[in-house]
Amino acid sequence: MSTAPQDEFNPRLNAEYQFNAAADHLQLDAGVREVLRRPDREMTVTIPVLMDNGKLHCFTGYRVQHNFTRGPCKGGIRFDLKVDLEEVRALAAWMTWKCAIVDIPFGGAKGGVECDPKVLSTGELERITRRYTATIMDILGPDRDVPAPDVGTNDQTMAWIMDTYSMHVRQASTAVVTGKPLALGGSKGRREATGRGLMIAMREALKTMKGMPDKVRVAVQGAGNVGAIGALLMHQAGHKIVALSDERGAIHDPKGLDLVAVTKWLDDQGRQPKDKRKFLDSYPATQLVPKEKLLEIDCDVLAPCAIENQIHSGNVERIKARLIVEGANGPTTSLADKALDERGIVVVPDILANAGGVTVSYFEWVQDRMGYFWPEAEVNQRLEEKIVGSFEEVHATAKKNNVSLRRAAYILALDRVASAYKLRGLFA
Ligand code: GLU
Repeated sequence: MSTAPQDEFNPRLNAEYQFNAAADHLQLDAGVREVLRRPDREMTVTIPVLMDNGKLHCFTGYRVQHNFTRGPCKGGIRFDLKVDLEEVRALAAWMTWKCAIVDIPFGGAKGGVECDPKVLSTGELERITRRYTATIMDILGPDRDVPAPDVGTNDQTMAWIMDTYSMHVRQASTAVVTGKPLALGGSKGRREATGRGLMIAMREALKTMKGMPDKVRVAVQGAGNVGAIGALLMHQAGHKIVALSDERGAIHDPKGLDLVAVTKWLDDQGRQPKDKRKFLDSYPATQLVPKEKLLEIDCDVLAPCAIENQIHSGNVERIKARLIVEGANGPTTSLADKALDERGIVVVPDILANAGGVTVSYFEWVQDRMGYFWPEAEVNQRLEEKIVGSFEEVHATAKKNNVSLRRAAYILALDRVASAYKLRGLFA
């Protein structure tokens, strides 16, 4: 039975709560249910690294493969101080459900290294990445497990992974990782894919809601790859971005921020050396608000695009948006999710709203394996079809069963993975 998690802020318990509720709905066989609940494989590794000061430091890394019934495992690698096994377990399970919803032939995995990329030099980051890759590489491979960027990692990190793996297998293996630079078999449109998918999911959700204008006021939490690019694409589509935040502060303009100028400013910051980097709290000539207030700002749509557990029982009642599109993984706790549902606030869940990233990762993997690359318009067109089609399926499931979009997304995903599992049968 699904009962609300004891610890509201444990992402693994939140993921399991949603899993259990959908499994109850599907009346999933108890044995199959246990198989799909558990991760298939978990790896915890020590990563000794020579730091710039000449001292040896041991970092801890993880790779959790939740399920590979439908294909090789797929999922990002996170570099963050708060990474732990419970978080990686949740993120890995969400990848399984996400890949099933957009119906791409992958299972789910996630990795992480407990470190603060903001204080590490480029050399230290490269040594961490290479040693981590070499240590887990027995379980990686284009047909086994294909990492990608996540919080704290980027295309350069993926290039180091590709090189480390390739040097070990004695051939250039581009399809072992996605989110790579274009020059190394990356896909056009991959960098923008999560933000683009988010924008499409928002547009599709708006069409189903009564009394919502088609051009809306959006507050975006997070100014990384998902938040900043998602906000820019929404702005370009004619929506008004009324607020944007990062880890230090939020900028707010009820008349709408000039996202082209904000993005340019953010890009310039990215080129600054780490110790000189600025945050949105030093963005010139806008109204600054504390970053926590972003979620409560007057807007039509809220897009949490940072990390887990941002919308919780302590702030959920103050949320004013009528629609939430989850660019981050797990930004809403299960308790808050229930409260939002009761208030009639529509939530496009993470495993659908941010699936644009892994969808174009899939396109990248396909292109690498073919050795033939598509123009950006083709990538975007295929992404559009995937997100629109998946949204329609989730929405139809929600209507049919009279449940929220999140519950419907889990029902659809679990059903797909469970059916595949039953077809394969048990190897014994
Ligand atoms: N890290 C992204 C996610 O959470 C992308 C994963 C991928 O492309 O494999 O969906």
